[in-house]
Amino acid sequence: MSTIVQKFGGTSVGSTERINRMADRVIQEKNKGHDVVVVVSAMGKTTDTLVKLVSEITTKPSKREMDMLLSTGEQVTISLLAMALQQRGVEAISFTGWQAGIQTDSVLGNAHIQEIDTKRIRNEMDHGKVVVVAGFQGVTEDGDISTLGRGGSDITAAALASTLKADRCDIYTDVDGVYTSDPRFVPKASKINSLSYEDMLNLAVMGAGVLHPRAVKHAKKFGIPLYIKSSFENVGGTLIHGKVKQIESSPVIGVTFEKDINRVEMFECEDVEGSREAIMRELATRHIQADVYTQSCRNILSLLIKEQDLQEILFVLRKEKDRWKYSRIEQRSSLSKVSVIGQNMKSQPEIKIGMCKMLLENAVRVKLIGESSISVTAVIEKSHIQKAVESLHTGFGLDYEDILKATV
Ligand code: ASP
Ligand code: MG
Repeated sequence: MSTIVQKFGGTSVGSTERINRMADRVIQEKNKGHDVVVVVSAMGKTTDTLVKLVSEITTKPSKREMDMLLSTGEQVTISLLAMALQQRGVEAISFTGWQAGIQTDSVLGNAHIQEIDTKRIRNEMDHGKVVVVAGFQGVTEDGDISTLGRGGSDITAAALASTLKADRCDIYTDVDGVYTSDPRFVPKASKINSLSYEDMLNLAVMGAGVLHPRAVKHAKKFGIPLYIKSSFENVGGTLIHGKVKQIESSPVIGVTFEKDINRVEMFECEDVEGSREAIMRELATRHIQADVYTQSCRNILSLLIKEQDLQEILFVLRKEKDRWKYSRIEQRSSLSKVSVIGQNMKSQPEIKIGMCKMLLENAVRVKLIGESSISVTAVIEKSHIQKAVESLHTGFGLDYEDILKATV
């Protein structure tokens, strides 16, 4: 029998009315004769609300208690969805991460799944039940509850699909697929019908919020097709799989952005390159991603980091002041990052030049520009993000009407 994993994001289960609607979606799939395993997020903005509660109690929450708290959001949804299914005469059972056998490493708050013991899930599936699993959580070897990092329910779904050797993993969300940029922000963004794992990974790593990059990695490893589709509309979505070729026609496949970026600069750093290496290693053990730039001639080391990682990074830098020998730290918020994504970007200097020109023409001041093999990224003032993203999207020929013209 075929197995389908369905994942419903926070907006899709944001109210009891929506949970009831998603229960109908589960049943549709079940009625086609598939075994169905469902992964859910916390309802609506529940996780944000929990984070806010913590800020009213302490500025230094312990990671263990933080994960204990944040994991509760998903637990509400699993039980409600299981009840909604039972109410419709469908046998269902809910599992928390540890009940589902999801074992993680011990990096609390940002844990990676190490293995999944699917015995219990399989047993329930064999009895014909729909199994509803809490996303975003697992258990460490020491028996503590861990969370996988924000947006981590996608990872749970893809990892479960891989371990169960599912035929497909459907990610239901509030947009109807993967676009050339976030369609909620760029009205002219175009939907991409199918994508290779590599292209999706590049978009996700550089900030396309539609799917967690680690979910793509899990799916790619075992060749599980991922299908991103709308929870609310019955239209075709985006299929991500191994059989499509990377997009070759256009050098740029999308424009991604991160609205809230912080820059931390270390001044008068004695050994800029050595410190860069050491910091990168330290961040890797904490599963934190940051762009680290050096200005060797001025002995400055700059880190571009996500809002959610700021406190931890400041803590690490201050703790290691003697080791990394710098005179002072300066921090700057209200910055954003915009990236154009493609392949072999370093061998196409015209992309970086074009990007600078387009931003300049639109009066967007570039504070920093950097490139990797898959992207060129500019750091800009947050207040310029809308015009920056839109002008690059138009400039690189990604607007909906241009793509239509190109395909006629
Ligand atoms: N509830 C978690 C979050 O808001 C996980 C998820 O939704 O994927 O980040
Ligand atoms: Mg998400």
